[in-house]
Amino acid sequence: MRRIYLDYAATTPCDPLVLKAMEPYFFEKFGNPSSIHTEGQEAKRAIEDARERLASFLGAKPEEIIFTSGGTESNNFAIEGVAYAQGKKGNHIITTSIEHHAITEPCKFLERRGFKVTYVGVDKYGLVSPSDIKKAITDKTILVSVMHANNEIGTIEPIAEIGKITRDKGISFHTDAVQTVGHIPVNVDDLNVDLLSLSGHKFYGPKGVGALYVRRGTRIERFLHGGDQEKGRRASTHNTPGIVGLDKAIELCQDKMEEEVKFQMRLRDKLIKEIPSRIPDVYLNGHPQQRLPNNVNFSIKYIEGESILLNLDMLGIAASTGSACTSTSLEPSHVLLAIGLSHEIAHGSLRLTLGRWTKEDDIDYLLEHLPGIAAKLRQMSPLYEKK
Ligand SMILES: *Cc1c(COP(=O)(O)O)cnc(C)c1O
Repeated sequence: MRRIYLDYAATTPCDPLVLKAMEPYFFEKFGNPSSIHTEGQEAKRAIEDARERLASFLGAKPEEIIFTSGGTESNNFAIEGVAYAQGKKGNHIITTSIEHHAITEPCKFLERRGFKVTYVGVDKYGLVSPSDIKKAITDKTILVSVMHANNEIGTIEPIAEIGKITRDKGISFHTDAVQTVGHIPVNVDDLNVDLLSLSGHKFYGPKGVGALYVRRGTRIERFLHGGDQEKGRRASTHNTPGIVGLDKAIELCQDKMEEEVKFQMRLRDKLIKEIPSRIPDVYLNGHPQQRLPNNVNFSIKYIEGESILLNLDMLGIAASTGSACTSTSLEPSHVLLAIGLSHEIAHGSLRLTLGRWTKEDDIDYLLEHLPGIAAKLRQMSPLYEKK
């Protein structure tokens, strides 16, 4: 059966050109980049080239890039690394109520160890207000972390504005840019950030590789202790094939970005227009304009997200409800609750995220079948009967 993948925010397939670039680094160029011999030096050169290219892509300097095992490690590194390095100065961290678990969990971990964390709320579109961040700052605040774009509802946050506030106060500012790097322009100076997380498998690179940008002068403790790789900031033998793959993925995104953004926005807006016109009682989640070019998220009243997903899957369509990390639990998404949805409505959400291999045909196929699925499920729903 034909499969249609509309879950690019959960992970992307690896671009075949990425895999091709990685291959030599499993075989003839397999050396340990810390070794003196030719095999090692070849690997080292590839890593340093990748570092330079990634830095230039982000508007950073090569020595400000630390390669990691992905978005989760970069986020944990940023939160705990700054907390431990600057803990003498203060014990207060500010973040938001819509962050990925890879931010909220390290924050909760620190709360159990004496740190105070403020979770700033968002408006009904999922937007964080810079003035709310400003109001939350105390003389003990050492770190602010706000995601660049939300992985569930696609809302793009006013990072540059928040960065002006934190810079004025001399507070380190981190952004989780896992959903934006490779998809929309990301420049660390334009955004006024001191730390930024990214992950290869969200932009057609391999899984298990990412990076943390750390602006020069930002005080951060190392996170993985061991060897002196990454100038002593992150131990462990480099994932050379992964880093080479991430490098190639960045190059491809750079070349294709303009065209991909235009195409995905057109299909996104087609879905945003057509779904409510074909199905009654559906509501768009996230900001109508200030959102990721590839993200659509709807609440479909009176039915459960899981039932929609199973029915779509039987027709060959892969979609998501909430984030992949919460899809096995029965709790509704904390993001949908944070924008003010009731538990009942938050359960009936559908996220469609488009990507490099999405065709207009795929969108038409979905639009053709989704109304029937919604009608069928509503027929069976006790919530719908009571209406
Ligand atoms: C996927 C994701 C992460 C986690 O990245 P991994 O590389 O899978 O660890 C963190 N933050 C956001 C916003 C994400 O979408």
